[in-house]
Amino acid sequence: MFGTVKRIIRWCGEFKGKLYLGFLMTFLSHIFTALPLGLAAYTVGGLIEATVAGETPDASWIWKSILIQVALVFFRFLFDYFRARLQEPIGYRLTARDRLAVGDALKRVSLGYFDKVSTGNILNSITTGLGTLEGMGIRMIDNFVGGYLNFLVIFLVLLFFSPLTALIALAAAGLSFSAMLLISHYSKKNAPIEAQANRDMTGAAIEYARGLAVVKSFGKDGAAMDAVSRAIEDSKNIHLKIEWGYLPGNALHLLALKCGSVGLAMAAALMCLAGSMDFSVMLMFVFYSFSIFASLEPISDSAHTLGVIDDAMDQLDALKENHFIDADGKDITPEHFDIEFDHVNFGYDDRLVLRDVSLRIPEGSSTAIVGPSGSGKSTICSLIARFYDPQSGKIRLGGHDLREFTCDSLLANLSMVFQNVYLFHDTLRANICFGKPDATEEEMIAAAKKARCHDFIMALPNGYDTVVGEGGGTLSGGERQRVSIARAILKDAPIIILDEATAGIDPENEHLIQSAITELTRGKTVITIAHRLATIRSADQILVVNDGQIAERGTHEELLGQNGIYRRFTEIRKRAEGWQIEKA
Ligand code: ATP
Repeated sequence: MFGTVKRIIRWCGEFKGKLYLGFLMTFLSHIFTALPLGLAAYTVGGLIEATVAGETPDASWIWKSILIQVALVFFRFLFDYFRARLQEPIGYRLTARDRLAVGDALKRVSLGYFDKVSTGNILNSITTGLGTLEGMGIRMIDNFVGGYLNFLVIFLVLLFFSPLTALIALAAAGLSFSAMLLISHYSKKNAPIEAQANRDMTGAAIEYARGLAVVKSFGKDGAAMDAVSRAIEDSKNIHLKIEWGYLPGNALHLLALKCGSVGLAMAAALMCLAGSMDFSVMLMFVFYSFSIFASLEPISDSAHTLGVIDDAMDQLDALKENHFIDADGKDITPEHFDIEFDHVNFGYDDRLVLRDVSLRIPEGSSTAIVGPSGSGKSTICSLIARFYDPQSGKIRLGGHDLREFTCDSLLANLSMVFQNVYLFHDTLRANICFGKPDATEEEMIAAAKKARCHDFIMALPNGYDTVVGEGGGTLSGGERQRVSIARAILKDAPIIILDEATAGIDPENEHLIQSAITELTRGKTVITIAHRLATIRSADQILVVNDGQIAERGTHEELLGQNGIYRRFTEIRKRAEGWQIEKA
């Protein structure tokens, strides 16, 4: 329990000063909560004593007492206000910083990480986990620290008037603290189980939402919905089971505090009867007997939540402390853009996908990568972008091993245009300017014109300010592709990696996309996972990948002459495209 409190305080970093000042405000607020009780007891006691003695109570004293009460209550709220101003923003500021840090960390891990950690996991840590920390982290330690500070203040008052009653309060608080340790131990043990149930539920919901098109096209949601229902049911059962487990600890905690209250009041009453305590002091004790433990009651919620917060912080640390692929990288600006693979071996897991691949792509040249499905074409492109590191061998850009670069300085040299274009749920303007946020309006429009998307964008009601659906879902496939090409044109990177569309595109669209690609690739080093014979034929170099190896390499004419895989491949493509290219 103390470990988590300390951990949250450490997490506060540069805001620690405000946090401590907030604790001071809480302490003062508690003093100003205790004083009115003492004053009320003293006033009421005086009134009763005067009435019993048959005297007329002094009305001016009552008014004075009320005025002092108002002043004390005012100060109490003032300190509460300062506490809130000091402490409340801390959680929001820190979690905003951490969310950005996680975003940055995710950008710098190998893509292999995402094969192991599900989107549900990551999403849950960033939203639910950090949300818990954001909304409750600071409040919970304030509850904890504030609750015990309040106890301390009243305990000292009790000790001053009657050490015996202080001892009763201490015993009750001690028993409640043992219950708290029980609760916090239980919470720590179960928080990871709860968090996993939440992550599973999020993961299942994401999977269901992603697969909705398939679900609809098959007209059934059976298996897909089953997984979501199961995850929801499991989550409900796990949470319920864990909640039941808190009952004994909570009951012991409340029982200790309530018994403490009653014990305190009884002890004070007995002392008063025995004549060893003034009536007013006895009244004050009775009043304090309720308030001394009221501030300790919510601590059980803190003890419960501290475990959840601890787990959220574990998740956060795990995300932030990932092995950065570019931890030792430097910001390098290469002098030229030749790309080299030097005896590269790579596998996503134990199975080698690329075997002893060596190749050279000179700056300014165009390279077409062809080969059967699953042969390793996309993997070669992923390695150039350093989405993964090879198991052995070296990949160089401009003579520098890719491992020497930071991800940002490497990716600044690359633009990638994939078949499955992803557009952000944002305006077309923001999507096009993604790789160059400081682009002027003119530069953006020029890029959109070159990518042949200006006309269709201008025909939309909000033009460049049109917000596209998540992933670009509100645009046609061809439009999405052209927007992604505009994005790449605007970035103006010296190396272009293209995955040519294989899906049946209508001739009009294909013509527009080809014109856009011609604009994008002019004067650049171009690597294309090529399917169209026209692209392949015009490449300076063709790499034929087969079973993870470069099986053939050369120009179109050279490869046709070899009468190997490439020749067979072009014949199949010719038949598929339904037209003839010139005879070799
Ligand atoms: P296609 O033409 O069908 O896109 P490709 O030639 O581009 O195929 P790659 O995508 O490079 O082939 O895949 C090469 C091999 O690596 C395949 O056997 C594939 O199953 C495997 N593979 C690809 N991505 C992963 C991954 N993230 N994890 C594990 N294996 C993968």
